[in-house]
Amino acid sequence: MVDSLLAWLLLPLGVVLGWALAKRMPQPEQQSLSTEQLGGLLSHLAGDDPDQAIAALTQAVEIDQSTAELHLTLGNLFRKRGEMDRAMRVHETLLARPALNPQLQNQVRFELAQDYLKAGLMDRAEQMFQDLAAQGLFVTAALEQLVAVYEQGRDWKQAMQAARQLEAAKGESKRAVIAQYYCEMADEARRAKNNAEALKLVRKALDTDKDCVRGSLLLGTLSEAEGDFDLAAKSYRRAFDQDARYLPEMLIPLQRVSEKLGAMDDFVTFLADAKQVSTSSLPLVVEAKMMRQEGIDSMSHLSTSLETRPTRAVLVEFLDVLEKRPEVIAAGLDKPAASLRQALLKLIETSSRYQCSNCGFNPRQLFWHCPSCKQWGQIAPVDDGLGPKA
Ligand SMILES: [Zn+2]
Repeated sequence: MVDSLLAWLLLPLGVVLGWALAKRMPQPEQQSLSTEQLGGLLSHLAGDDPDQAIAALTQAVEIDQSTAELHLTLGNLFRKRGEMDRAMRVHETLLARPALNPQLQNQVRFELAQDYLKAGLMDRAEQMFQDLAAQGLFVTAALEQLVAVYEQGRDWKQAMQAARQLEAAKGESKRAVIAQYYCEMADEARRAKNNAEALKLVRKALDTDKDCVRGSLLLGTLSEAEGDFDLAAKSYRRAFDQDARYLPEMLIPLQRVSEKLGAMDDFVTFLADAKQVSTSSLPLVVEAKMMRQEGIDSMSHLSTSLETRPTRAVLVEFLDVLEKRPEVIAAGLDKPAASLRQALLKLIETSSRYQCSNCGFNPRQLFWHCPSCKQWGQIAPVDDGLGPKA
């Protein structure tokens, strides 16, 4: 703690000392920051009085390249430390200098725009990044920041436009992200009960990125709501073909629409295929539940499943079957089995069911935009295996 506090305090001091050394003891007439002012600046930083240090810094009569760089470095340091008022004050003071050369002026504008973004002054950040990009300055970085501004404001149309500009500037595809924006818009239309608009948007998502799992799942949900069970079944299956990890998102919906279509034979075939492709235990659980519905004893199936794919979901189903068996009831073991099943259900409920492949974040619900690393489409369901995680 003391070490980190010391580092906190010494960093700005180091910046100023580094700056002074880089000047290699200039002659007094060449200095834009007088020896006296530099001394004042150092003592304020050493005394952990950054506001006085800023005042000393801004008293420099003349701004040359190195004094301006000192402003920039200190301002950025304040931003990194989350001291946004101070960061903005340093950068704004520097920008107000009439004699600042254009190159430095642009650099300060870029830094100030980042201050605004971090301080949550989104309108100002947006305007400044837009101006910079329009003038061909810091284009890639400004567009990346603009995308972040629009994503934060859930302004998907603007985010899409900025992503397309970024695509052109960087020469790198942004299709997957643009498809996610279409899905966001489709989801908003669905919540507003405008299914026709939502369907149009989700089709655009899939046209933009044919591998968009979210688009397929959403097309399934929307088609199902419209009573188009055939398209719904195709869409749910497409989601699995696109990425087998999303099986837990599509399996029960596919079962539901297969029942409505009277196509349970196809569903049984799908379960058999899914077991080959996916490591999830969910097809085994669904098979066991279907056996029970048909009055078939699923105990042997579940015992084998517990050996091949031991997961909490299989164990819950196993206990549910076990506690209803006459010999278990006769032995008075049905209640302990039920207690164990309830405890497992609680554990499943409170466990993380998803993981971000980019940052490792473990949410309990599916986010298409990772709240931790802000990447799109990286969070997927994970197996609830009983053994230690691989
Ligand atoms: Zn993440």
